[in-house]
Amino acid sequence: MAERVVHSDEQWRASLTPEQYAVLRCSDTEPPFSGKYVNCHDDGTYRCAACGAALFSSDAKFDSGTGWPSFTEPVLAEAVELREDRSHGLVRTEVVCRACGSHLGHVFDDGPQPSGTRYCINSLSLELDPLDA
Ligand code: FE
Repeated sequence: MAERVVHSDEQWRASLTPEQYAVLRCSDTEPPFSGKYVNCHDDGTYRCAACGAALFSSDAKFDSGTGWPSFTEPVLAEAVELREDRSHGLVRTEVVCRACGSHLGHVFDDGPQPSGTRYCINSLSLELDPLDA
């Protein structure tokens, strides 16, 4: 389990692109079909773009048709933290990196069976660590 990563707002601004900062630190959502991992089928581990913690395996990725990278489960349940999100007049469940508290996306219950879980994650919150051939 990764150490908890605590940075000041200044440090996050310095280490992230403005687009990454808006999503990871201000819970913005990238436009659908805009992210670099929407149609990515490469093998590897998707890490937190802010702190590098391992979050999702390519094995759990599926094509949801929503325009955002979608996963059935995190690499470890402890890798993410779920929080109730009542913004935008909706009640949703926010997905946050447990190691650094950065916003990743939301989780919904309309995923593929048997779990029915769909982690809807911004490409900007992820960095794919490819498997060596
Ligand atoms: Fe993180």
